[in-house]
Amino acid sequence: MKKLVLLALFFTATYSQSLFGQSAKDKITLVIHGGAGTITRKNMSPEKEKAYREKLEESLRTGYAVLQKGGTSLDAVEAAIHVMEDSPLFNAGKGAVFTHDGKNEMDASIMDGATLKAGAIAGVTTIRNPISTARKVMDKSVHVMLIGKGAEEFAKLQGETIVDPSYFYTETRWKALQNALKEEKVELDHTEKKKEEKTKEVPKKVGKISKEEKNMFVEGKKFGTVGCVALDQFGNLAAGTSTGGMTNKKWNRVGDAPIIGAGTYANNATCAISATGHGEFFIRAVVGHDVSALMEYKGLSVKEAANEVVMNKLVKMGGEGGLIALDRNGNVAMPFNSEGMYRGYIKTDGTVVIEIYKD
Ligand code: ASP
Repeated sequence: MKKLVLLALFFTATYSQSLFGQSAKDKITLVIHGGAGTITRKNMSPEKEKAYREKLEESLRTGYAVLQKGGTSLDAVEAAIHVMEDSPLFNAGKGAVFTHDGKNEMDASIMDGATLKAGAIAGVTTIRNPISTARKVMDKSVHVMLIGKGAEEFAKLQGETIVDPSYFYTETRWKALQNALKEEKVELDHTEKKKEEKTKEVPKKVGKISKEEKNMFVEGKKFGTVGCVALDQFGNLAAGTSTGGMTNKKWNRVGDAPIIGAGTYANNATCAISATGHGEFFIRAVVGHDVSALMEYKGLSVKEAANEVVMNKLVKMGGEGGLIALDRNGNVAMPFNSEGMYRGYIKTDGTVVIEIYKD
């Protein structure tokens, strides 16, 4: 009899482990984005597309390897974002865009869906991997957000890699700033050419926006921010976003990327979100939390909620961009209202999807 009970216990344990342990493992998923904006086939060379696809895949596989080894979603998000921060292709870390004053000022944030803890930094100029410092703010401080010099001091104390600001110089971004500066000058001249250019750049479907906001569309044709959301084998969600902000930004402008609830949000009860786009609108629309709230209070699926915010609410406001979203069952949504968005995901069944254009 005793033997029978032991046998029954053994089977129950094994069965339930495979039922629960296995099913959670089956759902591990990692989703990334490398920015949204005017990204069209017409403007893309085969070499450039190849370079982007390779880097996106490297990021996906790096983050996914962490999950596969039993790592946490937070570790996976950090690892995947590191790859993109270290590449000049994206507007984060190494490839950060230039401010009006010719500096690179970066913002980043991370959130843990299991505990609702979060960490963020803004306006930093010497931290090689801002996402890791954001993580340290979450793990090693009692605060959520640190900015500027204070954030840099904190990073140093935490042993983060500090670099000379010249590390962030890339020729492409420097040229982008020169163009933006020129366009601004043209703007002051009120020439016809400039007017035509602007009409072309502003998406037709967007709502009423001011002249200054239109200018930012011209300047920020591509929002190269990077982000990642992940689901680990413990069923925990995490989200992270890292950016250089928008080319030609002034006055220590900070966008949505480091704002918890706007550019980044994670909650095990609903979803994990990382956004990219015209930050001012994403802050006003409280994008990340809004998607989560639609799921929590209205019972929408992750796809329905993400679509509602990006394709309806943001479009009505005039906010260009997109986001990546992931729920606790591994369902992925990647809506964007711009012409393109670098994006991709990887799942346990081996699916690796990398997409750039609208269709
Ligand atoms: N959302 C970022 C910002 O406004 C820009 C981007 O997505 O590239 O700072």
